[in-house]
Formats: sequence, structure tokens, C-alpha cells
Amino acid sequence: MNIVEIFHSVQGEGVEIGLPTIFIRCGGCNLRCEWCDTRYAWEGGEEVSIEEMMEKVDEIDCSRVCITGGEPLLQEDILELIDSLITDYEVSIETNGSIDISELVKRDLMVSMDYKTLSSGMHEEMRNDNLKLLRERDQIKFVIADRTDYEFSSNMIDKFGLNCNVIFQPVGNENIKEIAEWVIDDGLDVRVLPQLHKIIWDGEEKEL
Ligand code: SF4
Repeated sequence: MNIVEIFHSVQGEGVEIGLPTIFIRCGGCNLRCEWCDTRYAWEGGEEVSIEEMMEKVDEIDCSRVCITGGEPLLQEDILELIDSLITDYEVSIETNGSIDISELVKRDLMVSMDYKTLSSGMHEEMRNDNLKLLRERDQIKFVIADRTDYEFSSNMIDKFGLNCNVIFQPVGNENIKEIAEWVIDDGLDVRVLPQLHKIIWDGEEKEL
């Protein structure tokens, strides 16, 4: 598999925010979001076998693993990696919403989907068939830059009757107060959450 980094940190986004987690970051992405904060994962990375990855993960004292990217579903061996991890770890996988998740939702893990809003420039790449597959244990994150993104995201909840956890996350933590006030005014049942790692480490990486 093409791996950019493996590191131990706290979960910075979504319903598991703040929980100590091992991150496996896969290299390569099929999208080019305007506000991408992991551009270094678009190219590069190095070939690491699943056995080598399991060894490295097993050395870390942590029960949770998040597979992220880039876009991890581009990796040929991704299901093999998941199946190796789920026997011993609580696993989550972050995916960008453009690739079929039907094999993921058959497994004992949390699917964390970043649904691309208008400001990303990638919303037309979203595969809406995925939305009906998300389970109660899964989450969908809408990264929101402005009021247009907010309305787009609110409409998606109604249009697809989402059954999973819904997160509204401001781009770069910038307009979180505004988004929180819009959510309260509109009576939406979603979580408004920042990116915690950016508050704690201000962009520094926590690589082992
Ligand atoms: S899908 Fe994720 S990694 Fe890919 S460009 Fe968008 S934000 Fe960056």
C-alpha cells in the first residue's frame, strides 16, 4: 500500500473528537478540493506491506485506528488492511464521498464521509448512492466555508434523510460561531465541531 505516514495523536474531527487514535495516512487522491489541508498526501508516500503496517500499529499503545488520506479507497489492498485491523482495533475510515462504500458498510467499523460542498469545487464528483448506505454508527462531515455551503448542506440532510451522525465543520475553524448560530436559528439536529488538532498543534504534525 502507498502510505504517507503513520502517527499517534488525538482524533481532530467528528464524533470521536479528542480520543487518542493511531492514524494511517494513505497517499494519492482522486479529488482536488480548494481548501484541502493534506495536499502533501496527493503525491508521494512509500510502499508499505500490510504486515509492516500491522507491526508498527501494534507497537503503539492505543486501541483505535483511523485510516485516512488522501483517499484510502484508492488503495487496492484497503479491505485486506481493514480486515487485519478490525479483529484487534476500533477502526474508522475517512473517505471523500466519490467512491462506492458498499463493501465498507458490511464491516465492523465507522465510515466517516467528507461530503464535498460547493466551495470545494468537487461537489459534482460526489456519489449520492453512498448516502443511503450510511448507518447510525457512521458520520458525514460537511466542510462549510460560507452561507451557500451551509444551505447546500442543510438541504442535503432533508433531501436524503440521512440516518447517520451529521457534522458541520468550518473550513479552517474560521466561521464556527456563525455556523453555530445558523444551526440554532434553523433548529438543525447536527453537531457543529472545529478541527481540534488545529487548535492544539496549529498545523504541526505528530509523526512517530
Ligand atoms: S478529498 Fe480530501 S485529500 Fe483529497 S483533495 Fe479533497 S480534502 Fe484533499
